Amino acid sequence: MPADPPIPVLDLTRYDEALKSNIARNVAEVFATGRFVLGPATEAFEKAFARTIGVRHAIGVSSGTDALLVSLLALGVGPGDEVITSPFTFFASAGTVARLNARPVFVDIDPVTFNLDPAQLEAAVTPRTKAIQPVDLYGQCADMEPILEIANRRRVPVLEDACQAVGATYHGKSAGAFGRIAAFSFYPTKNLGAAGDAGAVTTDEDDLAELVRILRVHGGAKQYHHDRVGGNFRLDALQAAVLSAKLPRLPGWNERRRAIAARYGELLSAEAAAGRIVLPSEASGRRHVFHQYVVRVADRDGVKARLAEKGIGTSVFYPIPLNEQNCFRGLGQQGKCPAASKAAAEVLALPIFPELTDAEVERVAAAVAANL
Ligand SMILES: *Cc1c(COP(=O)(O)O)cnc(C)c1O
Repeated sequence: MPADPPIPVLDLTRYDEALKSNIARNVAEVFATGRFVLGPATEAFEKAFARTIGVRHAIGVSSGTDALLVSLLALGVGPGDEVITSPFTFFASAGTVARLNARPVFVDIDPVTFNLDPAQLEAAVTPRTKAIQPVDLYGQCADMEPILEIANRRRVPVLEDACQAVGATYHGKSAGAFGRIAAFSFYPTKNLGAAGDAGAVTTDEDDLAELVRILRVHGGAKQYHHDRVGGNFRLDALQAAVLSAKLPRLPGWNERRRAIAARYGELLSAEAAAGRIVLPSEASGRRHVFHQYVVRVADRDGVKARLAEKGIGTSVFYPIPLNEQNCFRGLGQQGKCPAASKAAAEVLALPIFPELTDAEVERVAAAVAANL
């Protein structure tokens, strides 16, 4: 018997032929128009994406990081300001704040959902707080209702980092439709991925949308006339063309991710009941789109190594909370987020992507159960 083939944590080569040909058609159209930056392909995607999220405006930008950066700029975040965010997220959530010479303030996570804990939020608000930036981690919305209640009462705008949660909902409303402005990433590994770097900003406010559009092109509403200092945060037409071909498939892909998550849940239920593993949970009123399927295990590094020996790929998101990163030592927030530190030591992401087969899901679950 030949050995079973390895199962990667993610495989971006399993495209079906229908999708490939739709992408090729859209890409050919961009070459036919010769409009390679912004232009009709970007506008078409922006319209379709705004409709998907249920907001008035979507502005295509160069990456999720730039979506965050331009949103912070649009909210007027600058030197000396504080922006409250989660310590347990991708680096960009805080790196963009620091790049504007503002100060990231980390509020610890809820250990069940891995998202910013609203119960600890208000104590972190100060007169310098210029924005609250919750992150919808792993594909599940942060607890928006209490976060927005505190933000509104304290008159602080909310910038939603929805980079991992395209298609997720919270009481029926889409991730990216909360707060004043939101950031999406279309990095190839995300639930909606481009063929390179891409992102979007969403907002319901006409003025804020206009400001983002201006900041996206160096702060000039009229070419060579600059009222503000922005940057080059433009979305390439080729990326927009790829995204427009893929967008209609997103609901089906997210359903498949949810089905895989449900299957893992069934197959690992005995181990979970025995306390050998903690499975991810969907909070009430929330629709999780499982950008990642993240379990907790005590011997995380050991389990990861044993699975690798069996050819099963896994990942760790994230091994070091942001308040513990060397570059943020000067902030003096080390040791402040024990729930994030515990999560960083225990989390393990199992393979999850729409093209993963049922047989592969079963093999992964069996290997996990046998190697805890
Ligand atoms: C991916 C991601 C980003 C950054 O997006 P890029 O497109 O890689 O720049 C920001 N925040 C979170 C939570 C992310 O997962």
